[in-house]
Amino acid sequence: MPLYKNQSLKIYNSLSGEKELFTPIHEGNIGLYVCGPTVYSNVHLGNVRTFMSFDVIYRYLMHLDYKVRYVRNITDAGHLTDDGDVDNDRFVKQSRLEKLEPMEIVQKYSVDFRKVLDLFNFLPPTIEPTATGHIIEQIELVEKLIELGFAYESNGSVYFDVAAYNAKGLNYGELSNRNNDDVVSNTRDLAGQSEKKNPQDFALWKHATPAHIMRWNSPWGEGFPGWHLECTAMSTKYLGERFDIHGGGMDLKFPHHECEIAQGKACNGVTPVNYWMHTNMLTMNGLRMSKSTGNYILPMQLVSGDNDFFEKSFHPNIVRFCFMQAHYRSVLDISNDAMLASEKGFNRLIEAVVNLKELSAQGQSSLDVAKWKADCYAAMNDDFNTPILIAHLFEGVRFINLLKEGSATLTAADLLELTQTFTTFIFDVLGLENSKTSTENGDKVEGLVHMLIDMRNVSRANKDFAMSDLIRDKLTELGIQLKDGKEGTTFSVK
Ligand code: AMP
Ligand code: ZN
Repeated sequence: MPLYKNQSLKIYNSLSGEKELFTPIHEGNIGLYVCGPTVYSNVHLGNVRTFMSFDVIYRYLMHLDYKVRYVRNITDAGHLTDDGDVDNDRFVKQSRLEKLEPMEIVQKYSVDFRKVLDLFNFLPPTIEPTATGHIIEQIELVEKLIELGFAYESNGSVYFDVAAYNAKGLNYGELSNRNNDDVVSNTRDLAGQSEKKNPQDFALWKHATPAHIMRWNSPWGEGFPGWHLECTAMSTKYLGERFDIHGGGMDLKFPHHECEIAQGKACNGVTPVNYWMHTNMLTMNGLRMSKSTGNYILPMQLVSGDNDFFEKSFHPNIVRFCFMQAHYRSVLDISNDAMLASEKGFNRLIEAVVNLKELSAQGQSSLDVAKWKADCYAAMNDDFNTPILIAHLFEGVRFINLLKEGSATLTAADLLELTQTFTTFIFDVLGLENSKTSTENGDKVEGLVHMLIDMRNVSRANKDFAMSDLIRDKLTELGIQLKDGKEGTTFSVK
């Protein structure tokens, strides 16, 4: 029986403002869409937090035996810094700055994004579509919106008609709880505004000026799609007109997600998403992490220690553990002290995993493993509450220590339950890795392997091949592969 049948998962829905019992549209299957990165620059650690929150959500849904179709797009065109000014196209601007083709910019930062994801042990989404790969679908959506009376053309650009949408009683602003006056006063007076019937109207398609080198043919002349439209086109194509979960950072609620709701409802007559999930922001030393203010750090800078904010380097596992110690809807502040505390906590957890392997069953159980396990699930079922889960995992650490020192006993069945639950949550759900602990331990392991390589060399020089082979084979068994080359022996870890 699939695990989800025994669990009642609740998700905080940003649309209703309440925690709701989660019921997928098709039993056993989940459609999940997360707004991906705009690949015009390196992702910063704040972006990583949002994507990591959804990585854990995806991992837990799969752990519950749901079949998840997880779509996370790559925004590689059309993300303007402002709706009205084509010169604010992030890709065109960056390509001028770096003297590269816009698609070279896209490639450069897509590659960087994937490297960062690997670094932090992310699972890949099941579909990763790009905006430029879906221009036809976007043009079709614009045509449909014009046909239905929800959009109009003006000087080669096409805008969504918010007044026409509201006139049908469809209520633009329902996600961010904005009324029409709020929307208007939040819309700055920019170039292109005069083309709009109303300031709150947003671009579905933009006419390309001669300077705008990212351009495609359309029924309205050469241009490029609006950012909001791409997510509607891709989510509809891969997940349908109505799907289960849509996520992103809370800064995307307005206008991006508000526009997606309006486009979906206008096109298909149904609310496109059942559960909207928004992650809160990462701050560093109390200030929101953002490229524009300069208060940001790149993931690699934190991991390598090459930065001005932290005293030392931190292993990616520790960054992941640190992020998981806050609930995804709470602000998370990283600082030197917070990272040091996470390093300690993470090492305690991994130490317990090591100790767990040495325990053996004895007599009756004096610890309530079943209740502890239920508590772990209850934490994740309560809107993916990872900090509460971690608190329970530390209760598990306490159990392991009691067992180790002989102050408690467990039956074989309970010991197995403790082991499976403890390791499943740490590795499969939270996505932490066993092979890599702290940088400090990593350094020690590296030192030890080099020492064994030296010992092997001495054995070979003494023609003690039994010993040299034994060293190599034992290391291979541990997943450490030795490679003899001209420059000496190197090793890689599986
Ligand atoms: P972008 O590439 O700018 O579209 O951003 C990618 C994702 O990162 C979006 O879901 C943003 O909401 C999210 N994001 C941006 N800044 C932060 C931050 N400081 N903390 C958490 N998430 C962020
Ligand atoms: Zn999006």
